[in-house]
Amino acid sequence: MSARVITEIPGEASRRLLAEQAAVESSARAYPRLTPIAISHGDGAYLTDVDDNVFLDFLTGAGVLVLGHNDPELLRAAQAQLEVSTHGLDFPTSAKQDFTRELLRMLPEAMRNKTKIHFCGPTGADGVEAAVKLCKTFTGRSGVVSFHGGFHGSTQSTLALTGLRASKELPGNPSISSFFPYSYCHKCPLGLSPESCSVNCIQYLENMLNDPSGGTPRPAAVILELVQGEGGVIPARLDFVRRLRELTRELDIPLIVDEVQTGCGRTGTWYAFEQYGIEPEVVVSSKALGGGHPVSVILFDERLDGWKPAAHTGTFRGNQLAFAAGATQIRVMERDDVLGNVRKVGVHMKDGLRRLQERHDFIGDVRGLGLMLGVEFAPLGSWSAGEVVDRVRTAALRRGLIFEPAGRDGCVARFLPPLNLTREEADEALDILAAAIGEVAESAESLRGHLDR
Ligand code: PMP
Repeated sequence: MSARVITEIPGEASRRLLAEQAAVESSARAYPRLTPIAISHGDGAYLTDVDDNVFLDFLTGAGVLVLGHNDPELLRAAQAQLEVSTHGLDFPTSAKQDFTRELLRMLPEAMRNKTKIHFCGPTGADGVEAAVKLCKTFTGRSGVVSFHGGFHGSTQSTLALTGLRASKELPGNPSISSFFPYSYCHKCPLGLSPESCSVNCIQYLENMLNDPSGGTPRPAAVILELVQGEGGVIPARLDFVRRLRELTRELDIPLIVDEVQTGCGRTGTWYAFEQYGIEPEVVVSSKALGGGHPVSVILFDERLDGWKPAAHTGTFRGNQLAFAAGATQIRVMERDDVLGNVRKVGVHMKDGLRRLQERHDFIGDVRGLGLMLGVEFAPLGSWSAGEVVDRVRTAALRRGLIFEPAGRDGCVARFLPPLNLTREEADEALDILAAAIGEVAESAESLRGHLDR
């Protein structure tokens, strides 16, 4: 299979469905605005729209479909479960206990015997809400420390933890969070050069938490994405994370790692925290975990389990299809060494992106872990970096590659391909990107020639 675009985007049939949708759905519609297609079906790394255009899908349902679209084994697992039961509140079932065992097996051995699980409502934000509530109950404190550029969900209280200002400028939005600089070395929040850095951003947090006049009371938790996703695919520096872990331990502050996007193998290990050599108190996991079906869990140090019976309930915490497909997915990923593939193809993709960077000086940075990759663009002529990404994205879409922007003003092209991506598929995406970036460079050049005249 390969990408094939045979109509304008959107084609005739997509245009009709998009118009019907726009007439009744809220203006908060998001993804179809940037990628104006109506979906027909998917197959592996490819997505077909209702006009029969075939795209390489590097969005994969916002990082959910780690084995690509319609993986036959995951489909069979969900179909079989459909005949048994679909909804189970928080009663134990065979499917649920099987999934639970697999979830624990995904953790590093040292954590398995002291970890408790709570099944949350179905979304990532539900998991984050539960994690914060657990830490508040345990510590009896109220505030949370989070980081510039972080994203933790779209509910009221997860928005309060989110660094992305535009998405939270709501009247009366509760701000329970104190924000501190994240190790974004390409554009250091403290204006320092990476060479002279001794992780001053974490030093700043340390000073504030220890300063009786720092204005930040001891928080109930610190919440961190090890690779910021929406914030622009920014892997935290190793020394930043290690020192944060030491500091939170010294001050007895639970550390929550939000692995909603980085979890389930995306970065080349089951969870990204493993690559930092740390043990967090709480891991939030969702998105890919249910093999394409909604589920979210928190995995936490049993020491924190100060919850009374029914302290955190919710109707949709027993999605049996997610349990069946999710457990199967873990086993398939292990059998097929999908994590090994993420590491191999991730390096291959990154090398290809770096070669593009050598050719184009408006590519500022190439970064990421495993198959969570981003390219940060710089402004070009009169175009802002966000406009450049927009142009590259549109040119790539016309050639059959779907991806989303991320980061400040959308200055990062972000790639979340399936984790069983082949080298050939990666090369196809790189070829499309090379052509799209080339087209944007050429039109900037001819615009400049035009203005010079
Ligand atoms: N945390 C992170 C790190 C995320 O990337 C997201 C979603 N992009 C969320 C939380 C929220 O997940 P959901 O949209 O399922 O609520």
